[in-house]
Amino acid sequence: MPRYTDESKDRVRDAVDMVDLVGSRVELRRSGGTSHSGLCPFHDERSPSFSVDAAKKVYHCFGCQEGGDAFTFVQKLDGLDFVGALEFLADRYKVPLEVAEEDPRAAERRQRRERLLELLERAATFYVRMLWESDEAANARRYLADRGLEESILREFRVGYAPSAWDRLLLTARKAKFGDREIYDAGLSQRNQQGRTYDRFRRRIMFPLADRRGRVLGFGARALGSDQQPKYLNTSENEVFHKGNQLFGQDVARAAAAKAGQTIVCEGYTDVIAMHQAGMRNAVGIMGTAMTEQQVESLAGLAPAVLLALDADSAGQEAMLRAARVAAGRKLELRVVPLPVGSDPADLVQSEGAEAMGRLIEQAMPLERFQVRRILQTADRSAADANDRIIDAVGPVFAGLGPSVMRQELIGEVAASLNLSDAFVSELLGRPRAAAPAAQTAPTNGAAPRAVSPAEKIERTFLALCIALPQPGHEALKRVTRDHFSSLLLGRAAEHLRVHLADPAVGVGEDDSDLGALMTELSVRAANGTAKPELLRVEELQLELARLDRSISYARASGDGGVSKLVVERNTVKAEYDSAIEAALEASAPAPVDHDDY
Ligand code: ZN
Repeated sequence: MPRYTDESKDRVRDAVDMVDLVGSRVELRRSGGTSHSGLCPFHDERSPSFSVDAAKKVYHCFGCQEGGDAFTFVQKLDGLDFVGALEFLADRYKVPLEVAEEDPRAAERRQRRERLLELLERAATFYVRMLWESDEAANARRYLADRGLEESILREFRVGYAPSAWDRLLLTARKAKFGDREIYDAGLSQRNQQGRTYDRFRRRIMFPLADRRGRVLGFGARALGSDQQPKYLNTSENEVFHKGNQLFGQDVARAAAAKAGQTIVCEGYTDVIAMHQAGMRNAVGIMGTAMTEQQVESLAGLAPAVLLALDADSAGQEAMLRAARVAAGRKLELRVVPLPVGSDPADLVQSEGAEAMGRLIEQAMPLERFQVRRILQTADRSAADANDRIIDAVGPVFAGLGPSVMRQELIGEVAASLNLSDAFVSELLGRPRAAAPAAQTAPTNGAAPRAVSPAEKIERTFLALCIALPQPGHEALKRVTRDHFSSLLLGRAAEHLRVHLADPAVGVGEDDSDLGALMTELSVRAANGTAKPELLRVEELQLELARLDRSISYARASGDGGVSKLVVERNTVKAEYDSAIEAALEASAPAPVDHDDY
C-alpha cells in the first residue's frame, strides 16, 4: 500500500467541501451560520438530529453520537480504511496525491505486490468468462441455479469457473506476459514432483476472496465432481493471501454493513450470495466454523454489531461461543440469529423466502438468550430430575450475566418453562453451582462479549457533560436514578458524581479501580469536548427514553400490566426530546466529539 505525504493529506483536507460531501449522501438544509442539518446516515431516524459544520468541516449526530471529519465520514459510511478514504476524497476533490519516498527495497516489494494483484484480478475475470461462456461449465451453472442463485448476483460476486484442462489459466497468464514464477507466487499454479507446473484450480466453481476494497487476494474453490478431493480448496498461504483473514463478500457488503450498523455472518459462499440476492446486502462469509481473531478484527471494522447466522448444530454453536470469546473485550456486539437446527441461510431463503429470513434476522438476540432458549427447547423432560438438569445446564450461562433486565427476563422464561416461580428459579441460579456435564456448550465465566452498547455510549456522554457543565449537570444528576443506567458501574458513577462533581477523582475507593478509571476517562472527555447545556438536555432525555423502553419491554415480558401507561409517558418524553434536538441544533454547530476513545 502506498504511503502518502502528510502535505497531500492536508491538501485533501483543505479541498474537501463538507456540505457537498455529506450532501451527496444526506439531504441537508441550512440551520444557521455555517451549520447544516439532516437525517443521520448512521442510524434510522425521522426527525433530523445530524448536523454538519461547513467551516470546521466536521459532523455530529445528537441521536447516535457519531461524529468526526471528512475522513471518518467516508471511512464509516463506506467501510474504508484511512488510505481508502484519502484516495476517494483526493479523487473527488481533484487533489493529486504524492507518494512518500520509499527505500528501494520497499518500492520493489510494493511493485511486486501490485503485479500479483493485477494477475489475480485477471484470473478472476478469466474464471468469470469461463463460467458464463464455456460449454464445460454447464454443470457449474446448473449447480448454482439449483441453489436458486441468479446470474446478476453471481456476476456481482464475480463467481467463476476453473476449466478441467491442466493449463488453461497458465496459458492465459503467460500470454498476458506474466512469468511462471509470478503465477506460482499468486497461488494460481502448483508443481508436481517432476517440476512440471500446472493450474492449481481445475473443474471447480471459483469464489474470489477480496479485501474490503475489492482487490482479489485469492480464491475459494468448490469441487464440481464427487470424485474430486478436497471438496473445498483454497489458495494456499502466500505473500498476498492469508487464510485466517478472509471474509467472503466484504467488498460487496461493506457499504450496507456500515449503513445498517451491523454485519450478518454466514458460513458458506452460497449462503452469503443468497442473502444478498434476498436483499440482505450486509452479509459476509467466514467459510469455516472457527472464527479467527483477524476475522473478528475485520468485522469490527465493518460495523459495530455482528449477527451470527450460523447453523445451530453443535459445530455452529461451538463457532458462536468461539466468536464470543474472540470478540470479548472488543467494541463488537454479538447477536445470534435463531436459525432452525440443521438449516443454513441459503436453504431457508430458497424454501421459506426472503421475508421469513428477514424475520429471523430481526429476532437476533444476545448469545446468552439464545443459549437459554435452546436449552429449554431441546431439553429432555422425561427424566425424574429433568428440571434440575435444566437448571444445571442454564446455570453457567447465568453465571456470566450481571444484574440486568435481560437476566430478569431470562429467569422469567426459565421459570415459566419449568412451571416454577421466578423467585425460586432466581434462588436456584443465584447459588454458585458446579458446572454439570450437560453444560458443555455454555461459556466459561467472564467470556461474555464486552461491547460498548449504544445505550452505554449515551450514558457516558451524559456523565461527561455533567462534569463539563457543573451547574446544569448537578441539576440533571439529581433527576436521574440507577434505573437510567444500563450497567451497575455507570449507575454508581452517577451516584458518585452527585457528590464529587467538582473533582470526580476524589472519594473513589482504593480498591475501586473500575470507578477510578471511568472517572479519569469522563474527566478527560469533559475537558476536551465542547459542552452546551442544550446538548446535556438532549442526553438526559435520551437516558429517560432508554429507561422507559426498558420498563416497557420488562412490563411486556413479565405480563405485569401498565404497558399502555408507560407508552403514553414515553410519547410525552419523545416530544420533549424532539424539541430539545431542535434547540440544540439552533444553539450552535456542535463540536466534534471523538467517540472512539473509550
Ligand atoms: Zn445518528
